[in-house]
Amino acid sequence: MPDSLLSKRAVVPSGALVFYSDFDDFSAWKNALQLHCPQLEVLHSSEAYDPARIHYVMAWKPPEGFFAPLKNLRLFINLGAGVDSLVGREDLPPDVPVTRLSDPQMARMMAGYVLFSVLRYARDIPHFEQAQRRGQWSYKHPRSPEDVRVAVLGLGELGGRAAQELHRQGFTVSGWSRSQANIEGIQCFAGLGTLDTVLGGAEILVVMLPLTPATRGLLTRERLMRLPRGAFFINVARGTLVDQTALTELLQNGHLGGATLDVFEREPLPADDPLWRMENVLVTPHLASVAIPTSAAEQVVENILAASSGAALKHVVDLSRGY
Ligand code: NDP
Repeated sequence: MPDSLLSKRAVVPSGALVFYSDFDDFSAWKNALQLHCPQLEVLHSSEAYDPARIHYVMAWKPPEGFFAPLKNLRLFINLGAGVDSLVGREDLPPDVPVTRLSDPQMARMMAGYVLFSVLRYARDIPHFEQAQRRGQWSYKHPRSPEDVRVAVLGLGELGGRAAQELHRQGFTVSGWSRSQANIEGIQCFAGLGTLDTVLGGAEILVVMLPLTPATRGLLTRERLMRLPRGAFFINVARGTLVDQTALTELLQNGHLGGATLDVFEREPLPADDPLWRMENVLVTPHLASVAIPTSAAEQVVENILAASSGAALKHVVDLSRGY
């Protein structure tokens, strides 16, 4: 066991942690956290507890009012990368720091999903899937990856990693972010003024932006129309970044060749939504990447110990900015 881990195991943090998530495995997280810090008391939100003893919350989308009784809260650990659901909550005191998960394995899982989706289009797999259903040997000559232009909107922890993986596969990759990024092998663009250029050059567009006041509804019909005819659209970020009605129509009228959608304006996607039944759309239920307790627990414990002792935290998000 590394020295850093051994020294942490001896520390007794102040207070207790309460956990809330409808998706994540409480036992797995409790075990992973206590492996790094056996003295940490980890409670589930469904247990009876004294709110005054709770110094840390680890949660994904806790219900409205959840934070109100927690008067001694020192740290909120968001059980994921996106913090859009926390913005504007009135029960979360503004002085409580919020951290996100920053987990290399989460980034790897996301990069795997993006790579799969891009390769599927770049290698014409939907064409072969449809030909197979018709029993047709429909040869389509493969293109060299460097001839395929992919753009990634959002070059953060997950987006930047995905862009690098795409570059490693030989695609011609461009990226777009708020401030100027500098990633080897990727043509990086910054700011709203360059968005139309990025869209105009993208045969495959991958959306990896956080949902913020500045990005909500960013991909309007007009901007989607900037994509070259037949372009493919992949959204693994948040559904409300995009005008979903316009997206659906552009997929129906052939301006867009296809879409891989992991996120939607409304989740679960309503049963009567046309996207479910469209041949050129692949729907997955918001799982492109998830937090992995065994790999993410160490950084969470480091932050808990830092909050306990008043030291500096890592991976703090700025809720006023939205990411
Ligand atoms: P980060 O917060 O690390 O990075 C955000 C990126 O978006 C940065 O490059 C940032 O630019 C850029 N950005 C933010 N605002 C703007 C803007 N107004 N204009 C242009 N660029 C902007 O995000 P991650 O890469 O970690 O994650 C991205 C999103 O993926 C998350 O917010 C979450 O919503 C989603 N997600 C989805 C999952 C799923 O399973 N489908 C799982 C996990 C996350 P700059 O660097 O200049 O600030």
